[in-house]
Amino acid sequence: MTVSAWERPWCGRLSRSDLGREVELVGWVRRRRDLGGLVFVDLRDRTGLVQLVFEDAMVGEGEKLSGQDVLRVRGVVRERAEGQANPDLPTGEVEIRVDELEVLAEAETPPFVIEDDTNASEDLRLTYRYLDLRRPVMAANLVLRHRVVAETRRYFDEMGFIEVETPILTRSTPEGARDFLVPSRLHKGSYYALPQSPQLFKQLLQVAGIGRYVQIARCFRDEDLRADRQPEFTQIDVEASFVREEDIFVLTEGLFRRIFPLAGIQPPETFPRLEHAEAMERFGTDRPDTRFGLELVELGPLCPGCGFRVLEAAAAEGRVKGIVLPGGATLSRKQLDALSEFVRPYGAAGVLWLKRTAEGVASPAKKALREAGVERFLDAAGAGVGDLLLVVGGAEKVVFAALGALRVHLAREHRLIPAGRHDFLWVTNFPLLEWSEEDGRFYACHHPFTAPRPEEADRLESDPASVHARAYDVVMDGVELGGGSIRINDPALQRRMFAALGIGEEEASARFGFLLEAFRYGVPPHGGIALGLDRIVMLMAGRESIRDVIAFPKTTSGSCLMTGAPAAVDAAQLAELGLGGGGGERTRG
Ligand code: ASP
Repeated sequence: MTVSAWERPWCGRLSRSDLGREVELVGWVRRRRDLGGLVFVDLRDRTGLVQLVFEDAMVGEGEKLSGQDVLRVRGVVRERAEGQANPDLPTGEVEIRVDELEVLAEAETPPFVIEDDTNASEDLRLTYRYLDLRRPVMAANLVLRHRVVAETRRYFDEMGFIEVETPILTRSTPEGARDFLVPSRLHKGSYYALPQSPQLFKQLLQVAGIGRYVQIARCFRDEDLRADRQPEFTQIDVEASFVREEDIFVLTEGLFRRIFPLAGIQPPETFPRLEHAEAMERFGTDRPDTRFGLELVELGPLCPGCGFRVLEAAAAEGRVKGIVLPGGATLSRKQLDALSEFVRPYGAAGVLWLKRTAEGVASPAKKALREAGVERFLDAAGAGVGDLLLVVGGAEKVVFAALGALRVHLAREHRLIPAGRHDFLWVTNFPLLEWSEEDGRFYACHHPFTAPRPEEADRLESDPASVHARAYDVVMDGVELGGGSIRINDPALQRRMFAALGIGEEEASARFGFLLEAFRYGVPPHGGIALGLDRIVMLMAGRESIRDVIAFPKTTSGSCLMTGAPAAVDAAQLAELGLGGGGGERTRG
């Protein structure tokens, strides 16, 4: 007799309170140990493992089992023998004396050891992802992700939000990335774009009067990938009517206080706020990690006429800033050279170092700056005896990028990040537009639907670069977890914004005509935010890559090693779409 699937206990949940109970269990063999006349088998499922004992008449059956075989067993839960309890295991005090065994499936030897501690390469793990996910750490990440999503849905439901699904086959949404395109079979030569975000739909839901929208939404962006990027990723996408910045802050802080405790992290009641310009000046980035010091110091005013031509030139054309590494005067020449190497990919020529020790000051620029000059720089930076000042000069963008990255690099190398500390903060008051030298035009810093600050909106034509946006990002430990804005809800202002972006009337109505049209029929003031679910779960799980919290992720070159996607398709499929092959010829004719 077998019991209903829903009545069987999970392997990892058995405890002393089950002693004496007869149970039926199912799971995978983790490993077998033969003790002659006694066979121990660890049986595992998603929740953990429990020890099975085959003794007396059952020994022979136990001996036949091998790793990853799938079993159904019946037996009695009993206390482990004196001295055999395993305090490291939740089920460590109990074991199951097996009376009945059914092998439901046999398993071949897997291509890697299915344990938390595996030395399998990530490629091998991705190829056999279903085996990788059998590893308890990986399963735990998926369980955590589920809990976060479930709690998120409960929270927004309580706050009066409804979840609405928006299309996957749609038109391009300008979030600044490349679109994935899907050719249409019925309309040859036309394409759907996969959504970079549900941005326009969530705004149109506000025009529809839905008022409070949330969606656990899949987004698609065809970008070059990194550890925290995937071509498809998931956002907790939010939009509400009749809200201001404050309302979105309170809403998001409330959500974080609900979900982060699932990983033992307690966010504060309200998050500190930092204006974009200040974040750049102090940390060199718009997603500062504030868990440690090493803030950027201003050195520009010291440079004119200082005697060191490199600094004079840098200050004349751009910016000169530095970082003081307390106790860094002990760094060797080799270590200092490595720091110069580190900043080069950010466009900086290198790092100039200045040291103060008990013996005096030292720097490769000492000859040009003289002793007093070196002192002046060290004093201005607040460097004491034993400290090191690292200086980068050049275009502002380069200085910020190089020092921003160097700061984090130094903190990691010198272990300056306090264990267990987590900092949440808002970055506000972003510029509305960003000038691209390359393309000779402005781009929206956030997206084209973000409202300018009303008191600055009149400069949209005369001095667009000086206008700030009603946009905000939420940052944790130097990772951008999400961002959003209060939107434009005035069709005339939306047109001016398009114009500032070099999108003419004609193009605006071709691409966004439906939005401008909707704005004619009573559009409430509205705003929202999108939070990166993958990154949130990654930080909660203490992982370094979002691939660890996505069940079936892609590699950094965008392929799925398990299914082989992207893959070639056959000529007939292409022909139906009017692409390549004979079909293509026909439609072109
Ligand atoms: N759609 C934006 C994004 O994906 C977020 C927002 O403005 O709500 O970044």
